[in-house]
Amino acid sequence: MTDTTCDFYCGKILAGLQEVPVYFQNDRVFAFNHTNPIWEAHVVLLPRKHIDSLITLEEADNDLLLELMGTAKMIAADFMARYGGARVYTNLGDYQSSKHLHWHIGAGSQLRPY
Ligand SMILES: [Zn+2]
Repeated sequence: MTDTTCDFYCGKILAGLQEVPVYFQNDRVFAFNHTNPIWEAHVVLLPRKHIDSLITLEEADNDLLLELMGTAKMIAADFMARYGGARVYTNLGDYQSSKHLHWHIGAGSQLRPY
């Protein structure tokens, strides 16, 4: 098990030590507008529970996974209505900068390389 205070989401954002513009939250999931967005609309979605990545999800997390995907669907539908398209992805390994499972949901013009 990873030390959950070490990653940016557990250590800063979920701990309330760094304020971010909240897009949606409840007691299990948290979604915020990226503070250095790649796209015009760019939300980061994560579980409040620490999970390292997509491939460390366990059977016991299935309800949480369903809630995360339901939230991703809601955000993507919002972006589809506003931009006519959306991308939803999660990074792994060397591509995953913060080792706490999260999804990027993006739409609109690309603002910077990724
Ligand atoms: Zn974490």
